[in-house]
Amino acid sequence: MISEKMLKLLNDQVNLEMSSAYLYLSMATWFEDINLSGFAHWMKEQFNEEMEHAAKIMEYIQDQRCRVTLQAIPAPKLEWQSPLEAFEDAFKHEQHVTASILYIVEEAVKEHDRATQNFLNWFVDEQVEEEKNTDDVVQKLKMLGDAKHALYMLDRELAKREG
Ligand code: MG
Repeated sequence: MISEKMLKLLNDQVNLEMSSAYLYLSMATWFEDINLSGFAHWMKEQFNEEMEHAAKIMEYIQDQRCRVTLQAIPAPKLEWQSPLEAFEDAFKHEQHVTASILYIVEEAVKEHDRATQNFLNWFVDEQVEEEKNTDDVVQKLKMLGDAKHALYMLDRELAKREG
């Protein structure tokens, strides 16, 4: 069993993962709109990952014989000034998700809830990856500046993302 407080934190985290998915789906549609289909593909893969994160937490809640309570997903931002601005937003968003995961880990430690601590270890590792992956693209976009040809090459590179 998990505590009422832990159940609420996990249900809120499900919502944050779904909100992340929705944000990246919005970015994918914006990238399609500006003809950067490789960037759009990358964001669609990211959308799928976030849905998997939400599903993983829902499964854990149910394995603990508790009730998943879905909440409203906030409307995502729809427009960005540049690919760099979108990826900077994605990076900042992932830092926010990391902080949220770490807060829940702290609570699990306080409650001596070993099962939830173990469960969340995967997410702690995953967040290191998420921050790295988004920041990698931020750094590349900063490097290429206004060079259209380089942006085209990066679009082709991001089109290759699998999973
Ligand atoms: Mg996530």
